Amino acid sequence: MASIFSRIVAGEIPSWKVAEDERYYAFLDINPLAEGHTLVIPKKEVDYIFDLDAETYAGLWQFAGRVAKAVREAVPCKRVGVAVLGMEVPHAHIHLVPLQSEADLDFRKEKKQLSPERFAEIAAAIAAAFNKQ
Ligand code: 5GP
Repeated sequence: MASIFSRIVAGEIPSWKVAEDERYYAFLDINPLAEGHTLVIPKKEVDYIFDLDAETYAGLWQFAGRVAKAVREAVPCKRVGVAVLGMEVPHAHIHLVPLQSEADLDFRKEKKQLSPERFAEIAAAIAAAFNKQ
C-alpha cells in the first residue's frame, strides 16, 4: 500500500506544497513545531532515509537545502533546523524547522495550531521564495 506521503505526491491527499521537481516534493507539516515547518521527501517511496540509493539521497539533501533557503527567506527565524525521525511515517523525509532557539526543535513540545488560511499563506510565501531562486 502506498504511504501517506506517496498519496500526497499523487494528489490523493491534499497538502500545502512549497516546492516540487521531478524527483522531490516539499510541503508543510500538518502538526508543525513552528510556522514554516516543512517536510522534504523523495517521490520514490523508501522507508528509511539511509536506505535510499546514493544518488536519490544526495539529491534529497541538495533539494532540501534549496527549500531551507526559501523557508528562511519567507519565515522570520535565526536558522532553519534539520531533523530526521521517521518514527511515524515510513517514507523517508527531512524536517526543516524555523528556529528562534534550540528549544524549537523539541518534538515532544506541543504543536502549533494554525488555521487553513495561515497554512496557505505560509506555503505561498515559501513557494514564492523558492520559485525566485
Ligand atoms: P516522523 O515520521 O518524522 O516521526 O513524523 C512524521 C511527520 O509527518 C509528523 O511531524 C507529522 O505531523 C507529519 N505528517 C503525518 N501525516 C501527515 C499528513 O498527512 N500531512 C502532512 N502535511 N504531514 C503529516
